[in-house]
Amino acid sequence: MKFEKLNVPLEGKRIEVEGGQLRVPANPILPFIEGDGIGPDIWAAARRVLDAAVKKAFGSARRIHWFEVYAGGKARDRYGEWLPQDTLEAIRYYTVAIKGPLTTPIGGGYRSLNVTLRQELDLFACIRPVRYFEGVPSPVKRPQDVDLTIFRENTEDVYAGIEWREGTEKCRKVVEFLNREMGCSIAADSAIGVKTMSARASKQLVRKAIRYAIERKKPSVTLMHKGNIMKYTEGAFKEWGYQVAREEFPEFTITEEEAGKLAKRPASKVMIKDRIADSMFQQILIRPSDYSVVATPNLNGDYLSDAAVAQVGGLGLAPGANIGDTTAVFEATHGTAPAYAGQDKVNPGSLILSGAMMFEYMGWLEAADLIVEGMRQAIRTKRVTYDLARHMEGAITVKCSEFAGVVIAKIEEGS
Ligand code: NAD
Repeated sequence: MKFEKLNVPLEGKRIEVEGGQLRVPANPILPFIEGDGIGPDIWAAARRVLDAAVKKAFGSARRIHWFEVYAGGKARDRYGEWLPQDTLEAIRYYTVAIKGPLTTPIGGGYRSLNVTLRQELDLFACIRPVRYFEGVPSPVKRPQDVDLTIFRENTEDVYAGIEWREGTEKCRKVVEFLNREMGCSIAADSAIGVKTMSARASKQLVRKAIRYAIERKKPSVTLMHKGNIMKYTEGAFKEWGYQVAREEFPEFTITEEEAGKLAKRPASKVMIKDRIADSMFQQILIRPSDYSVVATPNLNGDYLSDAAVAQVGGLGLAPGANIGDTTAVFEATHGTAPAYAGQDKVNPGSLILSGAMMFEYMGWLEAADLIVEGMRQAIRTKRVTYDLARHMEGAITVKCSEFAGVVIAKIEEGS
């Protein structure tokens, strides 16, 4: 594979895909995007932790060969554009990548680099696990009851970017068409946005969520939607979701309704249920332990992820993944926090935990487990970055790089 301006590592092999399954070599080449703002700080910290976990788990038998690819400010300086083809092709070719946060360029012709990356690579599922680490300050009484994995559809809904500014020729045309041909009565001074949701994208998202729940023996998948109002988009999402469960996983799933008719719910089956979006926000506050995997359209998922993460300690500990059929890009879910850039100050936890998700995806479970346990132990020492320390009694504030050092020490102590 030839790239215009990238230096491929001289050693290492790519992850290949065979029959829809990853074939991960012992020495994979993994592309990374450092990111903008605090990206270089948290990536430098996370990379040390990821390498330490691989070394502890596998000794010299496995090793990652990191491969820098560019997006955001660094890409603009190197290529004169924010998201070069080189980067997209490298991620496609090497299958699994990790990234720091990216600035959304103003006036660069992009809605957002992240949205573009997801759409270009068809990374249709955004996966965000939300779990509690003991000792992390939380605004709720029982944060330990929160253990959610949110599957958010990543390519459609109002995020598709189909909208027209009020007063423009195109907007006027759309309003006129809807009023004249479709029997609507839209005010002439309206702006218009289009919400699209396809059966294909909705089903592939729910399919991934159900597979994940079956493989990891999770108790339920909840379809979160606003179908009582948006019947043919969000309502259809719910119907398509149940259809996937019924037609593709009948022996592994049971609906809440079916289970209600039985004297005892079969524990081996994943319960499929649905909740209206507004009620779901209440539910995760008052009955979080009733929910496990949540599958939801794009906008609901965006809101729900941040609300859920707030219960367990905020954005500094929120990992994420954007996954397609096999291509996957793992990322911290927060932004570039420009006010803190270059200060070696912020929490690298979300990128470190994204790395653990990446290892899980690659089947390197021992390394993934070491990282999660290392984070758990590090937080217990109360030597944490400012965002956690300011709400933790008796905590000592450490720098971003120092926190990585605490996690590495705990990984190295681990058996
Ligand atoms: P942000 O997440 O960058 O920052 C909001 C606040 O959260 C910060 O001021 C800081 O107090 C806190 N914070 C964020 N990350 C932290 C960390 N690791 N440790 C401790 N505290 C942390 O959100 P924003 O200010 O709305 O966005 C800034 C830029 O980031 C924008 O250009 C936006 O488009 C971009 N962005 C990128 C991504 C991404 O790349 N995935 C996601 C969201 C926003």
